[in-house]
Amino acid sequence: MSSYTRGEFLGIGGALAGAFGLGGWPRADRSVPEQTRPAPGTAADLILVDGRVYTVDGSSPGAEAFAVKDGYFIAVGSNDDIRNLADADTEVVDAAGRSVTPGFIDCHCHPTGVRELLSANLTKARTIQEIQRILAEKAADTPPGHWVEGYGYDDTKVVDATTGRYRRITRWDLDEAVPDHPVEVPHRGGHISWYNSKALEMAGVDGDTPDPEGGRFGRTDEGELNGLAAESARGLFNDVGQRPEVGPEQRRNGIRHISGLMAAAGITSVHQTGGTPENLTALQEAYAAGEMRFRMYWFARGGPEHYDHRSYDALREAGVRSGFGDPFLRIAGVKYSTDGSNSGRSMAMSTPYRGTDDYGILQMDQQEVHEAAEEAHRNGWRVAMHANGDVAIENVLNAYERVQRLWPREDPRHRIEHCTLVNPRILRRIAEGNWIPTPFWTYVHIHGNKWAEYGEEKSRWMWAHRSFLDHGIPVPGASDYGAGDFEPMTAIQAMVTRKDTQGRVWGPNQRVSVDEALRIGTLNGAYASFEEDVKGSITAGKYADWVMLAEDPHDVDPDRIKEIKVLRTEMGGRTTHEA
Ligand SMILES: [Zn+2]
Repeated sequence: MSSYTRGEFLGIGGALAGAFGLGGWPRADRSVPEQTRPAPGTAADLILVDGRVYTVDGSSPGAEAFAVKDGYFIAVGSNDDIRNLADADTEVVDAAGRSVTPGFIDCHCHPTGVRELLSANLTKARTIQEIQRILAEKAADTPPGHWVEGYGYDDTKVVDATTGRYRRITRWDLDEAVPDHPVEVPHRGGHISWYNSKALEMAGVDGDTPDPEGGRFGRTDEGELNGLAAESARGLFNDVGQRPEVGPEQRRNGIRHISGLMAAAGITSVHQTGGTPENLTALQEAYAAGEMRFRMYWFARGGPEHYDHRSYDALREAGVRSGFGDPFLRIAGVKYSTDGSNSGRSMAMSTPYRGTDDYGILQMDQQEVHEAAEEAHRNGWRVAMHANGDVAIENVLNAYERVQRLWPREDPRHRIEHCTLVNPRILRRIAEGNWIPTPFWTYVHIHGNKWAEYGEEKSRWMWAHRSFLDHGIPVPGASDYGAGDFEPMTAIQAMVTRKDTQGRVWGPNQRVSVDEALRIGTLNGAYASFEEDVKGSITAGKYADWVMLAEDPHDVDPDRIKEIKVLRTEMGGRTTHEA
């Protein structure tokens, strides 16, 4: 690459104009606003030098340095090239040989931040004793009569430290830690919760209480309640005691909080896959207040019918279409759920769960999938359908292929959320239609104890990043946070090693390289929101979204990539995290 002089920088205007897409009219889904383009002829706001810059730009994959102005990369190249673009006012970041990547993009998650703000975080607890300590701490600053709530508990990850064995938490464990407040510990996967004796007492539930319709209480062999309540049985606890208040202020604070946590992990863009009207308001308020530390691509929630689908109904009726918004907050499309869950072991498959005759469940049948896809597609909405099992995925493909055949739209890129269990026919159909799958990128690592029920053979076709790439499909990264961990370094480790937390390997045929993992987490994520021309790589003319890492994921032992610290995260020229 040739050197840039200040004079020549004036001349870069032409190249930048190309990158910014001058010559065509702006497009709502991908254009860069006119007024934010850098003014030519002045020095850079920031230069980064002496870095190992993994640009994820095929035409110049490695660089030492780059320059940023008005929130955009304006040049990428060697230290000498880039130093020419600085003056006395330019911030100079000396990367000192550290690796720098584009900002990471999480294409499927649910970051509201409210429970992270109000409840005790049990996500990383690995023993029952640790959970007790965290809940006791939370109770110490909770007023009497108010609930102590945890989140992120997963029974398949927690052992009793006294025996070293996996077991579920009980009301007696909770009583020991928190005797005087009501306690609820919901399972990370939803559907079930555990309560302490105080909560049972306040709800008037005892050993003689019958199981309610559509619900169940957990009992010991002697018939005593053990604290577990499933499905509708949880409803008996709703109206007793004081729950933390959740209103507009808490929701807005939640966005500030969770976007800060995600920025600290290196994330600069997220796709909210199924938001409520209250969530959309909170995002707008946090954005307006300058507190939102990620770019948000927002899917309204569609169905199935019994889901809360107010957001899609109202936006569609208001005449909103996919692509409405700006580079920080944009309406993406509508999200439907067509089958069960991967980690909850209820996804709809053509072969049964190991040792059972259970094939999982469909939440929407083929006809309902056809109708939902047709309605959204014909109304100008981008469709995203949750489909984990191969049966559900083929139903969705049938619908996408049908609508595109009958009412063709230019490059609709309808999405298959999760797209967990694939086969060669599914891969071919996705490649041919240019549909976007969003497989879980941390699950193979964090949920290992659940995969035994699928078995080794199925795991060779699950979260199939390698297969997608081999079929030319630009597969992006997706955490499904809160159900999964969102840290991109954990995701890279998971995709590169295919190992769970106990070192067991699931589907080694699906391994990808570190470079491929970086591309999945950045440029492919941009493609999943029609933004590959404006973000996802360190390229002159794109948004200056970048991350500096303490260590190079190419160099460290693959089994400890997840320990790599993120030193700095920048979004459009603003620092969203600095360690
Ligand atoms: Zn989800």
